[in-house]
Amino acid sequence: MIRPKPLAVLLFVNINGGDQMKCPTCNKKMDCKTGKYQYSESGLDNVYLLGVEVCKCSCGERSVSIPAIMELHRVIGIALVTKDTALTGKEIKFLRKNIGISGKVFAEVIGIDRSTLSRWENDNQVVSKSNDRLIRLVYLNFKGIAQKKIQIQIRDKFKEIKHEKKKSFRFTIPVKDWVPGPNMCEI
Ligand SMILES: [Zn+2]
Repeated sequence: MIRPKPLAVLLFVNINGGDQMKCPTCNKKMDCKTGKYQYSESGLDNVYLLGVEVCKCSCGERSVSIPAIMELHRVIGIALVTKDTALTGKEIKFLRKNIGISGKVFAEVIGIDRSTLSRWENDNQVVSKSNDRLIRLVYLNFKGIAQKKIQIQIRDKFKEIKHEKKKSFRFTIPVKDWVPGPNMCEI
């Protein structure tokens, strides 16, 4: 299994008004740009962040400044539980990790064996229609998301889920959608 690389999250330090981002490996000044970043560290295949600061160094080192990661993950989680195709293994894993519980506890909550959960998360076993929905509901419950808006979405969205389709989730999210107030990454 390929483990996602740990995310190098650097604090956005703005010294003397210039971009003084130093490479953590060779200490050279890094070349920083605000742009699009494939957020593979989330464990998901097709999540792109728009407007984040990506710094590159001539030595090959790369770092990205992602503000408000908790809120970002919440936004991704809501997009997953309201998508209209079946959840993939990686998506189930993302949701479980985002509520911060172990595979053992999650399996207990869903009412399945730990080994079944592993097979789900590794796409080695098909998740039934009702378990797919149960996972979404458990996620919303653990996250304390129960606003009227989401409830309506569930009522309408769940009917539309094409469970036979496991389409790869593609999600592009501009930084302003999860960071309130002025965009701290803007140069
Ligand atoms: Zn370097």
